Amino acid sequence: MAAATATLSPPRATPPTYHRIVSTTLAVPTDPLQPVPVGLLACQRDPLLNELATTAVSCRESQSPTVPSNAREGKKKKAAQAPSAPLVEVILHDTIIFPEGGGQPSDVGILTSVDGELWDVVEAKRHGGHAVHYVRLKPEQSVDQALKVFSPGALVGVSLGEEGSKRRLDHASMHTSQHLLSAVLEHKLDIPTLAWSITSHPSPGYVEIPRGLSAEEIAFVQEECNKLVFEGRSVHVEVEELDAESHAYTGPSVGIPQDYTGGVKRTVVIDGIDRNPCCGTHAPTLHNLQLFVLPHTETLSRSTASSVRLYFLSGPRLLAHLTSSHTLLTATAGIMSCGAPSVPERVQQVVDERKKATKRVEDLEAELAASVATELAATAPKGSEGIVLHKHRTDDNTNALGFLSSITTAFSAKVKEGVPFLLVLSSSPSAQTGTSTTVVLIFGSDDKKVKVVGDEMKAKLNVKGGGKGSRWSGKFTGVWKETKEGEAVARILDSLQF
Ligand SMILES: [Zn+2]
Repeated sequence: MAAATATLSPPRATPPTYHRIVSTTLAVPTDPLQPVPVGLLACQRDPLLNELATTAVSCRESQSPTVPSNAREGKKKKAAQAPSAPLVEVILHDTIIFPEGGGQPSDVGILTSVDGELWDVVEAKRHGGHAVHYVRLKPEQSVDQALKVFSPGALVGVSLGEEGSKRRLDHASMHTSQHLLSAVLEHKLDIPTLAWSITSHPSPGYVEIPRGLSAEEIAFVQEECNKLVFEGRSVHVEVEELDAESHAYTGPSVGIPQDYTGGVKRTVVIDGIDRNPCCGTHAPTLHNLQLFVLPHTETLSRSTASSVRLYFLSGPRLLAHLTSSHTLLTATAGIMSCGAPSVPERVQQVVDERKKATKRVEDLEAELAASVATELAATAPKGSEGIVLHKHRTDDNTNALGFLSSITTAFSAKVKEGVPFLLVLSSSPSAQTGTSTTVVLIFGSDDKKVKVVGDEMKAKLNVKGGGKGSRWSGKFTGVWKETKEGEAVARILDSLQF
């Protein structure tokens, strides 16, 4: 376990060459009462930093009980906390909790106030050029307490925590891999990336491209990407002031958002491969970011454009995918009593056999229904009353009513012209319990009599049902005994005046 973890661990510390301010006039603000703009945040300067001591700049109660757009609080958290628990919005001088942006989802983390209290950051968002931390109060925490401990200048500890660190590693692996994949597609196959998403763990991320790729092309792209991974190409960020023309920046990235007011232009560089405007928290090297591209493209149908998605996995998400795929395959192989490579063949065999078996059951049922109907139609009519009888079956058919119905259809064809009849057909499963269902079907030549018998079944046997014309069907819940329920049906039929 330790060895497996070690091979996927990122470097322990971000190299000092990762974050490069390439402008002589740009510096990270140091005034503890001013927020560092998004683009120069600690998480963007050092993506491997797990803890930071900083100061509060502002705090206010959120106007809405939920974080704007999709709050990323897990279901477990939602269940554990009252949905009405207030949110407070905290702006800090600096932060290692990445605010959602540029296609990369928000981090989660923990703030520690000077009194030792821990506060859950459930989401961070960029407002203009500032990172806003959304803190969900615990039942014992109050807004007043938050306003006090996050007053301007108050010391605050920021950490990603265990959950936040895992999430960060996943986002960094997937985001850097997306840059790599887009760059290889562009340089090697001249295919631009139209859109992309790293989605959320454990789903694969994707890049959207203008055409489908053959299996050979996908294998080629994957191999080219992984050559660069094995080389362990370094990743660094270049930062300078944002000028007007930078807004026109285009490329595989989403570009710089129109509402961004941080004043910083950030370019993520994969050594010798790619330069891309991006605000994300990238792995400082491709080393160990092994990239797996799902070996098919998925066509998207849109009225305006045609594009396909190419899905990919890397880092912790690749491991999760391998684990779940292996578990599913092993479980299926166990059920099929075969080795994993034989699973598709064995499943196909079972599906084919099942189709044949279903067809045979249908044929036999049709034959049986005709045979039962012949037997019923041969019953001697009781004078002018015609054929009046109850036939009960024990049958584990999942569509018992359908089978009873086919008996009545066959009966119609076989009964002698002009002979009046009233049939009550019922069908119970072989092992009955208090919740078992017995299906009842009444079929007669006189619609009124069918309805009278149906009403009696409701009243005396508590059968729930209804009908129209010559057929009435219903369900009886519980154990159907011929000595009790069967007798009751016989009495209903006897007592009626036909
Ligand atoms: Zn990016």
